[in-house]
Amino acid sequence: MDFSFVDEIYDPLQKKLVKRWVLELPGAGCEWYKKTGGCTMCAFNQSTQKYTLGGHLYPHFMFKWFFHYAYSLVKGQNPEQLVIYNGGSFLSDKEIPPKTQLTILDFVKNHATLQKILVESRAEFATSQKLEQYLRAIGNKKLEIAFGLESANDDVRNKCLNKGMSIKQFEKAVTLCKASGVEVFAYVFLKAHCLNEEEAIQDAVETIEYCFERGVDEVSLSCAFIQPNTLLHKLWKEGKYQPPKLSSIVKVIEATANLGPVRIGSFDDEPPPIAKPSNMDSSDEIYLRAIHLYRRSHDPKVFEILIPGPID
Ligand code: SF4
Repeated sequence: MDFSFVDEIYDPLQKKLVKRWVLELPGAGCEWYKKTGGCTMCAFNQSTQKYTLGGHLYPHFMFKWFFHYAYSLVKGQNPEQLVIYNGGSFLSDKEIPPKTQLTILDFVKNHATLQKILVESRAEFATSQKLEQYLRAIGNKKLEIAFGLESANDDVRNKCLNKGMSIKQFEKAVTLCKASGVEVFAYVFLKAHCLNEEEAIQDAVETIEYCFERGVDEVSLSCAFIQPNTLLHKLWKEGKYQPPKLSSIVKVIEATANLGPVRIGSFDDEPPPIAKPSNMDSSDEIYLRAIHLYRRSHDPKVFEILIPGPID
């Protein structure tokens, strides 16, 4: 597994491609998963269980060693951003030791080229006390926190996806972040299993509209794919669910790209997906090419090359 690498990503806030250090930390795993079995579309627990001896929280010194080893793999590549994935909430003290959290922020503060760090969290961990600590540790560098809203619709988010988060919790986290100068990133899920294709498009569009109305800085459209041993896998095997069409992703982007920066999330993850977004016909190749171009430019005009329907 490639857990530390530098890639290039379009930064819509700077309007250019930037070098990004992607680091996967072996956090103890999502607390929400441990309490409830987690969100129905999520397979992160399979990786965290594998890399942490069943969800064990490693002590700070092990994270410190791991972090410096991971940095040695990318040293000299001059990334501008650091993105940390830990299969849960970086801000949770039960998932990443508090000392490790602050040590990493301090590293970014003192790094010559890193200008910004992005970490993921459930909304309830974004307290004013935590944000104050983080802002002290990061100094003049930028902090962005990514929250999984998934859907602005309570039933879709909580009954269907089992997110366990009220809209008030999300709004409180956004308000606290914005008030302290922390940038907010939101994940919006495309195609909860309780929605058909058209309903899923509408839900994603309405959720993205809601995010930008609330002051979210960036949205990432998380397009459903099938990972083993998940509810989506079971439904897919029974012929009751398909990941969204690539044309649906384009429809969501075309309807929302003028509202604010909307990324299209990767269709790959760990464990590797068994089925990905597809039009289920020969048009996939041209759609995937257009989506690749969009990811590198955020210019929805790249979709003008698409011809509706199958291509001979
Ligand atoms: S989506 Fe996030 S909150 Fe839900 S189970 Fe996965 S890691 Fe936990």
